[in-house]
This record gives sequence, structure tokens and C-alpha cells, in this order.
Amino acid sequence: MSVFNNPAFDEHESVHYFTDQTTGLRAIIAVHNTRLGPGLGGCRMYPYASSEDALTDVLRLAKGMTYKAAMANLPLGGGKAVIIGDPKIQKTDAMMRAMGQRVQLLRGEYITAEDSGMSVHDLNLMAEQCDYVGGHFAHFNYLGEPADGNPAPATAYGVFVGLKEAVAYQLKKPLEQLHVAIQGMGHVGFRLAKLLSEAGTRLTVTDIDTELSQRAAKAFNATVVDVDDIYDVKADVFAPCALGAIINDSTIERLQCKVIAGAANNQLEEERHGRILKQKGIAYAPDYILNAGGIIDIHHQRIESSPEKLKQHLESIGNTVVQVLQRADTNNLPTNLVANAMAEERFQQCGASS
Ligand code: NAD
Repeated sequence: MSVFNNPAFDEHESVHYFTDQTTGLRAIIAVHNTRLGPGLGGCRMYPYASSEDALTDVLRLAKGMTYKAAMANLPLGGGKAVIIGDPKIQKTDAMMRAMGQRVQLLRGEYITAEDSGMSVHDLNLMAEQCDYVGGHFAHFNYLGEPADGNPAPATAYGVFVGLKEAVAYQLKKPLEQLHVAIQGMGHVGFRLAKLLSEAGTRLTVTDIDTELSQRAAKAFNATVVDVDDIYDVKADVFAPCALGAIINDSTIERLQCKVIAGAANNQLEEERHGRILKQKGIAYAPDYILNAGGIIDIHHQRIESSPEKLKQHLESIGNTVVQVLQRADTNNLPTNLVANAMAEERFQQCGASS
């Protein structure tokens, strides 16, 4: 099947295939849209069953980055890279350098960053060969403290602000009167729990790693529930911070919350689940708006910026979420569709006359 016939193809501006016989590199870079700026998105290494699967993944992910960057008010577009192979056994330093050379060939049309199967070490190797790498160094975090490039603190803060504003709009409740159920106590979920706990929010948490949920119970006096019981918790907010597709036909009827606001990517299994949430009176804060803190952080580390500017940018996530909720109410539409339409307005109109 050709690129143009792939169901995930959405008028991507360019798709590049790269090989390197010496290192065994086989990679695809897709650039979806650069009207707002160069396509930024992570490089993923995964043992795809076929090059067709790799193509579908990179096309889908690159498109997602265009929408995320547009709604985060970034001068960036959407791009993504995939390397076909098992990172545990096939990845070598030479392969990473070869990948850096390939990214350099695109002369900034695409800026790469970390994704699954890749590490900061790998990005540093690519950066030896390439000027277009993000997220492998950090000058500061949003609090003005030294930082190591891990995007999770910025992501968690963006989710916290988005959740707070969504609840203020939807429930007219301050954080100290809230009960939030968080799925996943990993890098983002735990930090989100800390921010909420400091604001006086009551927490219920779960994680497949019981040590992590017990750690949260101890640190934040959180109630711990079994992994499958998180959907039934009678809380004001459900915050998915573990994995995607958790809003689906089997979970949606069980939800007791009034707001969904979390970090996980692709929370809705299908777009139609957004409409069902609307019908149930649950306000869904679109995932890619809430979890944009990581790319906002990467952007500020690449330009002349400051912790204050980074923090202000992260806090703009709150405004964006409220705009989406308002527009969804006014037009009686699901928030996921409103967010997509707003993103399209931004990246399609920009530069349209040129
Ligand atoms: P992580 O791997 O550190 O944490 C995920 C946690 O979820 C782990 O502790 C894992 O044990 C737990 N988990 C997995 N399956 C579960 C289940 N069925 N029920 C309950 N817990 C389960 O990942 P993270 O960096 O905290 O990211 C969390 C989510 O946010 C992911 O979906 C990620 O793609 C998304 N995200 C993260 C960032 C970031 O900056 N880290 C940025 C954007 C989006």
C-alpha cells in the first residue's frame, strides 16, 4: 500500500524513508503540517511487525503533534519519527548518530525529541550530528530550579492548571472542596497528586504497581483502590494518567465523575465517545490540550526564555481549556470535536494567503 492510500494519511506535507546499511537503521519521518512552524515530535523506536504498521503509526502521531502544538499556542507544527527495531537489542550508538544525520538532512523542517524506546543519551548522540534536537537539555524548570530535561514536571503542572480551570468553569468549586480520582501514579500522576494535595484536594488513586499507589497513600493521605475500581469512584474529577483508550464502551457507563482531566494520550478509544460523555453531562478536557506541558517546556529550552515565561505559557493551558468548554456549551458539541476544529482553524488559516 502506498503512503497516499494509508488510512492515516491526512495530506501530510512530506514523508521520508531512511536506511543505513552500516548500522541497520530503518526509519520513517513524517511531517504533517508546518504552517505554524517546524514539525516537532518525538522519535520512537519500536519492533513494528511491518513497515506498513510503522508508517501508520508515524502518520497518526505526526498529525496529533500538529493539533497539540496549535492548541498550545506554539510556533510549531507536527512531525514524528519512528525507527523500526527492538530498542533493547538493535539500538546502537552508531545507529543513533546515523539517525541524527538523517534528521539534519531535513534542515529543520522536523525537530526531534524523546519518545518510547529512546533516552536522553540517544538524543545526545543524535545532537552530535544534528542541530534539530529538543528535550535533551534544560536550563531551568518552571519554578526556576535546575532541571534535567525530564518533561514530566511541566506536563504535570499543565494538567494541574487545566484541571483547576475546567473545574472552576464546570463545577464552580475550588480545589480544596474537590475529590479527584487519579489512574496511574507514575512520573506525571504522582506529581499531579502532589500539586492537588498541596491545594487541599481529596485524592483516590490506583496503579498496577501497588508500591507506587502505597507511596501516594502515605505522602498525600490518598485512598487506594484496585486498578479496575477507579472507574466507579464517586469523585468530582477522573484524571487518567496511565494509558490510552480508557474511555471506551465498557468503562463509560461506570464513570461517576463530572469532569475528566488527565495526562494520558488518546484517552477516548474513539471520537464518538466524546459525544457519549457530553450526553452523560461529563465535561471532557481534551487530553492533548492538557498534556502539552512537555512540548511547551522543550520549546522554551530551545529559545531565549525564562522560568517566568515558561510558567506563564504552561498556565495558558487553563484558558484554552475554558475556551473549549465554553464553545462546546454554546454550540452543544462534544469538547473533543471543538478542540479539533479550533486547532484546524489555527494551523489551516496561518499562512493560507502566502
Ligand atoms: P509513567 O510510565 O511514568 O506512568 C504511568 C503509570 O501508570 C505507571 O506507574 C504504571 O504502572 C501505571 N499504569 C499502567 N497501566 C495501568 C492501569 N491499567 N491502571 C493503573 N495504572 C496503570 O508515564 P508518565 O510519564 O507518568 O505518563 C503518563 C501518561 O501521560 C502516559 O499516557 C503518557 O503518554 C502521557 N504523557 C506523558 C507526558 C510526560 O511528560 N511524561 C507528556 C504527555 C503525555
